[in-house]
Amino acid sequence: MKVYKFGGASVKDAEGVRNVERIVRLALNDQMANGQMVNGLMVVVSAMGKTTNALERVVAFLDAGKEEEALAQWVDIIDFHVAIMKSLGLQPGSDIRLQGEIPYDPKRSYDENYDQIVSLGEIMSTQIVAVYLLKQGLSVEWWNMPKLLRTDDTWREAKVDNTVSSAVIRAGWDRPRRPQIVVAQGFIGGTADGRRTTLGREGSDYTAALLGNYLDAESVTIWKDVPGILNADPRIEPNTVLIPSLRYMDAVELANSGAQVMHPKTIRPLENKHIPLFVKPFGDPTAEGSRIADDGVGPIGVPVYIWRKNQILITMRAKDFAFVLEESLSEIFDIIHRHRLKVSLIQSSAVTISVCVDNTRFVSEAIQELCTHFNVTYNENLSLLTIRGTTPEILEQAKAGKTIMLSQTTRRTARLVVVEQK
Ligand code: ASP
Ligand code: MG
Repeated sequence: MKVYKFGGASVKDAEGVRNVERIVRLALNDQMANGQMVNGLMVVVSAMGKTTNALERVVAFLDAGKEEEALAQWVDIIDFHVAIMKSLGLQPGSDIRLQGEIPYDPKRSYDENYDQIVSLGEIMSTQIVAVYLLKQGLSVEWWNMPKLLRTDDTWREAKVDNTVSSAVIRAGWDRPRRPQIVVAQGFIGGTADGRRTTLGREGSDYTAALLGNYLDAESVTIWKDVPGILNADPRIEPNTVLIPSLRYMDAVELANSGAQVMHPKTIRPLENKHIPLFVKPFGDPTAEGSRIADDGVGPIGVPVYIWRKNQILITMRAKDFAFVLEESLSEIFDIIHRHRLKVSLIQSSAVTISVCVDNTRFVSEAIQELCTHFNVTYNENLSLLTIRGTTPEILEQAKAGKTIMLSQTTRRTARLVVVEQK
C-alpha cells in the first residue's frame, strides 16, 4: 500500500479536489498495471486552504469574549466549504452534515478549546474529499482519526501513543472487503476519553509518516505546490534547483532548519522502517519530484538556503560575575522547555548566552521568568537564514544588503540572524 498526503494549498478549491481524484486514479491504475492486486491507498488530507488560520482566529475571538467576531469568522469558514461542495456537485446538509455550533466551552482551557475547534478544518476537508471520490465511483472509506490515532492530552502538541494507534489502525486496514481508498485527517488525533487533539501546526506530514510506518507502506508521498525539494524558497530566490535525491539525515536537517517542505517529525517513522518518502508536484503528478531514502545521494551538491521567519533573539547575561556556563545552561533550558519554546540557534560567550527561538505566544512569559535569573535583552522581527554547503563567497553574497545580528559558521553550514525588512 501507499500513503498520499495532500496539504491545504493543494485542496484549497474545487479544482484541487478534482486533481486529488486524478492523482488517486493514477495510483490505482499503476497498482493494477504492475499486476498487483489493488492493495490500497491511504489518502491523508489537511484543512482546505487557510482554514486552520481562520479557525485559530475563531478561538482567539472567543477567548477574548468577542462572540460576534468569532461567529462572523465561523460563518465565513462554513461558507467557504459550502461553496467548494457546491462546485463539486455535493449537497451541503444531505451529502455532508456540517458542524452547527462552535464547540467552545469557557470552562475548558484555551488550548483544549483550540483543539476541539481547530481540528474541525480537517474533519470538513476529509468529508468533502471522501464524499466526492465516492460520488465519482471510487471505493472509499472515511476515517475519523480522533477515534483511531490515540494521543495524550498535551493540547496543541499531543503526543501519539504508537502502541495503541498502530494496533487500532492496522486492524482497521487489514479488514476483509475494506474499500480501496481510505481518506483520513492529518494533524489530528484523540484522547482515550474521546476528545480531539492536534499534533502541532503543519502536522499532517507527520500523520502520513505514522500511517506509513504502522501499515508498512511501500512509500509515502507528500504532494506539494512545488516541483519537489528545492535548494531555496522560490518565493524568495529566483534561481532554485530541484534536489532529486536525499538521505533521511539531510531531510531532517532541512526540516529542522525551518524549510517549509515537511514537518520535522516526518522522517523518523519512515527511517525506522526504511520507507522512502517522495515529495512531488501536485500540478504535475507524473514528474519525478524528490526522493528521500536510505540510499539517497549525499551530500547535496548545491548550497541550500533555508529561511526561518518570526524569530526572537534572547540574550542572557549573568546578574553577578559568578557565571557558570553549565549551570546557567541547564537553568535556561529548563525554562525554555517548560514554556514550549522552539530553539533554532544557540551561542555562548564567557558571560552571555544567546538563543534564537520561534516567536510564539509563549515567549513573553518565558522572558519574564528568565528575567528573574538573568539580565535579559531581546530583539524581535528577525529571521534565521541557514545556508548548508556554504563557501566564503556564498556567505559574502548572502550577507550583502542585510543587517546581521549574529552569525555562526561551521565547516559547511552558516547561520545568520537577520533583521527582517519592513
Ligand atoms: N491544517 C494544519 C495546519 O495548517 C495541518 C497541516 O496543514 O499539516 O497547520
Ligand atoms: Mg495546512
